[in-house]
Amino acid sequence: MSTNSNESLNFLEEIIEADLASGKYKHILTRFPPEPNGYLHIGHATSICLNFGLGVKFGGATNLRFDDTNPTTEETEYVDSIISDVRWLGFEPAQIVYASDYFVQLFEWAKVLIQNGKAYVDFSTSQEMATLKGTPTEPGKNSPYRDTTPEENLALFEKMRAGEFPDGHCTLRAKIDMNSPNMIMRDPLLYRIKHAHHHRTGNTWCIYPMYDWAHGQSDSLENITHSICTLEFAPHRELYDWCIAQLGIFPSHQYEFARRNVSYAITSKRKLRQLVEDNIVRSWDDPRMPTISGFRRRGYTPASIREFCDRIGLGKREMVADMSLLEFCIREDLNKSSLRRFAVLHPLKVVITNYPEAQIDHLETENNPEAPETGLRPLSFGRELWIEQDDFMETPPPKYNRLSPGGIVRLKSAYIIRCEEVMKDDAGNITELHCTYIPESRSGQDTSGLKPKGVIHWLSASDAMIAEVRLYDRLFQVEDPAREEDFIATINPNSLQVIENALVEPALMQAELGDRFQFTRLGYFCVDPDSSADKMVFNRTVTLKDTWAKESAK
Ligand code: ATP
Ligand code: MG
Repeated sequence: MSTNSNESLNFLEEIIEADLASGKYKHILTRFPPEPNGYLHIGHATSICLNFGLGVKFGGATNLRFDDTNPTTEETEYVDSIISDVRWLGFEPAQIVYASDYFVQLFEWAKVLIQNGKAYVDFSTSQEMATLKGTPTEPGKNSPYRDTTPEENLALFEKMRAGEFPDGHCTLRAKIDMNSPNMIMRDPLLYRIKHAHHHRTGNTWCIYPMYDWAHGQSDSLENITHSICTLEFAPHRELYDWCIAQLGIFPSHQYEFARRNVSYAITSKRKLRQLVEDNIVRSWDDPRMPTISGFRRRGYTPASIREFCDRIGLGKREMVADMSLLEFCIREDLNKSSLRRFAVLHPLKVVITNYPEAQIDHLETENNPEAPETGLRPLSFGRELWIEQDDFMETPPPKYNRLSPGGIVRLKSAYIIRCEEVMKDDAGNITELHCTYIPESRSGQDTSGLKPKGVIHWLSASDAMIAEVRLYDRLFQVEDPAREEDFIATINPNSLQVIENALVEPALMQAELGDRFQFTRLGYFCVDPDSSADKMVFNRTVTLKDTWAKESAK
């Protein structure tokens, strides 16, 4: 239940631990409150891990609550995607609820405020309201509608609700203090008129509560103990507390932490939606998108994203986390868990001239040297092979350690070969290499005494299969695209490279959605949902780093 006291706690954990220790709460309840107006992004992931993580850590629970108070921007598609993203990250909400579940209660409570002389219907235009509001250094002025009686206001509010006024005709405002140093407290709006269809309540309502009226009361209705939001809501806390105090309901408390942004990414649903709508990316789950669904399709694991959120931690100051930290987390995870396979992205044919024409040899190689229990897999070896074009250089630089004319290289888990002849077409392009293999150099039984400097991957032409491989690079060329006036102009034109005719090991034809592999020397890859029985499509999740140096020695 409680945490080990030696462990260093973040400021929210300290607050929660103290609240539990003092008996203020027996158990805690947090919530994650997305607005269903887009898919969740990596910034939301930090909030999910924080809220659900606290629930888990302190033996409490966490609700998923849709903040669906704005009917015009919300869609069921977004609701569904958010639920599945939260679950995919590894969290199960105690309840899935909607602010719209509380529309009736919120309406009744608004009438309580009116009856108590704490709210009024205002017919001022938004411009007039803005003028009367004052500035942070000047007090505001009371609206001419401020002193109408509760009876009049109740009648007007019922008329608002009954649809007797057009959009924007009037609003319901809390009657607090036009001189408050906190601008938020200068008679904030509680309800606005919007004749719009709502994704859940349909046409039942034509007035919708503002965030400030819906959020704290929803928290209270659910008995949320710690309501955690981002820093920009700090000035709203006074209003949050005021509303709860006026109604005398369960006192939820609001705490703020700083947003987490990630370099080379956008964490704004509005901007991400623009990328989708302008067809700059294919969809919300395009593997280049910094959305949770984009990372999922790209091959990221839930554990790697949780680890990333954990490592960047929690603070009171805005920070931009490094995208390379996220890449580090996924490499760490996949290095341990993913099976190794061979793929050749840009094939160059190699003919082993001293190898019998119809003979196929059966070799073996490790599935994952990090997990020996995964055993070995078969590899066919024949007279015709494929290697990567860039594993051969006709005139290599001094320290080149792969294949070149007259030189030798080891084919991983197979034999050492020597390049005897470079075949070219009329235009001078290299078409194939004629090589010889050293029969006594078979991996594991090598008595050749030869010491090639390099080890390369390869495929047998007898069973290599064609697959599509998609290589991704960062979507933006600048570290902080959100700061640019035109963030679209910072898009990396080379963020997607499609290789339609890559070659892969035959076993990869049976790969299933969700499978992840290390393509030896090329990176980590996953199966894309565009795959079909005839043609597999693989996404590169992330490139390799130093792992090959270690594994290639074998
Ligand atoms: P966006 O600008 O993408 O629409 P938002 O804050 O308006 O972001 P919400 O759907 O309201 O989106 O967010 C749900 C929750 O996620 C909120 O509690 C919000 O504080 C949190 N959140 C959103 N973005 C971030 C971020 N970059 N870092 C941490 N928490 C975030
Ligand atoms: Mg929002």
